[in-house]
Amino acid sequence: MIIILIFSLVSFLLGLILAYTHYLFPVKTDPIINKINNELPQSQCAQCGYPGCYPYAKAIINKNEKINKCIPGGSELIFKITKLLNLDKNIEDINIQNKSLVYTTVKIDEKNCVGCSKCAIFCPVDAIIGAPNFMHTVVQKFCTGCNICLLHCPTNCIKIIKE
Ligand code: SF4
Ligand code: SF4
Repeated sequence: MIIILIFSLVSFLLGLILAYTHYLFPVKTDPIINKINNELPQSQCAQCGYPGCYPYAKAIINKNEKINKCIPGGSELIFKITKLLNLDKNIEDINIQNKSLVYTTVKIDEKNCVGCSKCAIFCPVDAIIGAPNFMHTVVQKFCTGCNICLLHCPTNCIKIIKE
């Protein structure tokens, strides 16, 4: 009982120290990163090559990353980012860049699905529905085509479909 009380007290004190440190040294974020992040779809699908939308927004500013890597965002997003960054690009250039990107989604071959749920666990946007040990299905309107689920399906029953 005394040990639990001591642990609780120590945790409480550590929490207070952390909160105070955060207050004293707030983490500074570049406002333009937040603005770009607000325009991104927040799918966290990683198709841009970064673990999520915020890291991609950060890379655009800090690593001079290209602005045409977000497939779900499409041309419209590229245009918004060029405006935010005051880049000298016209809409035709933007469309040409984006034409090389092919939007895809995936479909589960349901008769071969063993219901392991691995695909659903790894889907960053919860586009796969199904109960453990039962057939799973991809809800097309939520699928961003990141293909992450493909890597986790033990029976290879997830196939890419083009729009
Ligand atoms: S590609 Fe996916 S993770 Fe990257 S910015 Fe776009 S929506 Fe976000
Ligand atoms: S269903 Fe697969 S391809 Fe579609 S968003 Fe989820 S993980 Fe990505």
